[in-house]
Amino acid sequence: MISKKMEPLVKNSSVIRAMFEEGAKMKARYGEDKVFDFSLGNPNVPAPDEVREAIMAILENENPLKVHGYMNNAGFEGTRTAIANHLNKLHKTKFSAKNLIMVVGAGSALNVSLKTMLDPGDEVLTFAPYFVEYGNYVANYDGKLVVVPPNEEDFMPDVQKMKDAITPRTKAVIINNPHNPTGVVYEEDVIKEIAAALSEKQREFKTVIYLIVDEPYRELVYVDKTVPYVTKYYDNTIVAYSYSKSLSLPGERIGYIVIPDEADKSEEFIAAATIANRVSGCVNAPSLMQLVIERCVDAEADIEFYRRNGEILYKGLTEAGFECLKPEGAFYLWMKSPVADDKKFVEEAKKYNILMVPGSSFAGPGYVRLAYCVSKETCQNSIEKFKELAKEYNL
Ligand code: PLP
Repeated sequence: MISKKMEPLVKNSSVIRAMFEEGAKMKARYGEDKVFDFSLGNPNVPAPDEVREAIMAILENENPLKVHGYMNNAGFEGTRTAIANHLNKLHKTKFSAKNLIMVVGAGSALNVSLKTMLDPGDEVLTFAPYFVEYGNYVANYDGKLVVVPPNEEDFMPDVQKMKDAITPRTKAVIINNPHNPTGVVYEEDVIKEIAAALSEKQREFKTVIYLIVDEPYRELVYVDKTVPYVTKYYDNTIVAYSYSKSLSLPGERIGYIVIPDEADKSEEFIAAATIANRVSGCVNAPSLMQLVIERCVDAEADIEFYRRNGEILYKGLTEAGFECLKPEGAFYLWMKSPVADDKKFVEEAKKYNILMVPGSSFAGPGYVRLAYCVSKETCQNSIEKFKELAKEYNL
C-alpha cells in the first residue's frame, strides 16, 4: 500500500505518462516526421565533442579507482575548483571549492537546498507559471509552496505581489532564469527589485529568506540580455545549476549548488547541505561526470540551433494568428490559447498531430508551452499544421 503523500503524485504522473505514450503511438502510426511533438524539454542537440573526448581520455588515462570510487560527498575538489574558477572569471565572484557542492542535476540541487533549510510548515514562494516539480520538491520536506500569480503583461515577476505574500514563515523564494515555461529572461533591474524587497522583509521579520536561483538554462539566451549572477545582488542566494540543458546531459544527472560566503551562517549551511546530499541517497554526484565537467567547464551549448528553432516557430505561429511571447531564453515558447480552456486546445491540436503541454500544468491556465528542443524540420513542417489549427479558431 502506497503512502498518502504519493497518491496524488501517481495520479498526476499518469497524465504525463499518458501524453508521452500517446506521442509514441502517434509516431508509430503516422511516422516520426508527421508528428510535431513539442511536449518534452529533452535537448535535441548532442553533447559537445569535448564531452565525448573527455570521457575517452578519463577512461584511458585516469586511475579507475578514482574514476569509479566514492569521494568527499561534496564532490571532487578539482572539479569544484575548476567550476569556481570558471564562475569567478565570468562573473567576477570570489568562490572557491568550498562554496560548491556537486549534485545530481538541478532537481537534486533544489531538493538538497530545500532539505537543508526547511522546517515543516515553512513557506516557499515562487512565481506562476512555474516548473511543476517545485511543489513536489517543497512537499518532500513538508514545506508549503505559495504561488505568486502571474503578470500576464510580460510574465516578469510581480515583485509587489511577492512582497505581499511574504510572512514570517517564508524561508525561500525560488526564481528560474531563463524561464521555463515562458522563455523570458530576467535582467538586472528585476533581480535588484527582488533583492531589495527580500532585504526589506528580512529586516521587518528578522528572518532569513533565501533566494534560490534555479538556472539550468543560464547559457541559453537568444536576445541581447544578460542573465545576472544573483549572488552579487543578494547575500542569501543559493544557486542551483545543471548541465542537463547547457551540455545536453540530462540523463547523466550532473549539476552543482553554489552557497556563497556571504550567505547566513554559510559554513554551517554548506556542511548541512553536504549531509543532505548524502542522506538523500544520492551520496555524491556521478564521479565520471564530475571528472568530465572538470575538463569541460568552458564547453559551450549550441545556442544557434535553439535560436533558429525559436525564430521559425515564433514567426510561423504569429503569422498564423497565434499570440506568442517572443522567446528570449531556455527553449520554450509560451503561446496564448485561443480559448480559455488550454487543455481543450491541446486536445484539439492533437488532431493535427501537434503535441504541446497545457499551461495549466505550470499554473499558467489559458496558455500552452511548446518545447522547441526538437529538429529544425519539426519546427518548419509544423507551421502548415498550426495554420490549419488557427483556421478552426478563425484567427
Ligand atoms: N528546473 C527547471 C526550471 C527545469 O526546467 C528542469 C528540467 O526540465 C529542472 C529544474 C530539472 O533539471 P535537471 O534535469 O538538471 O534535474
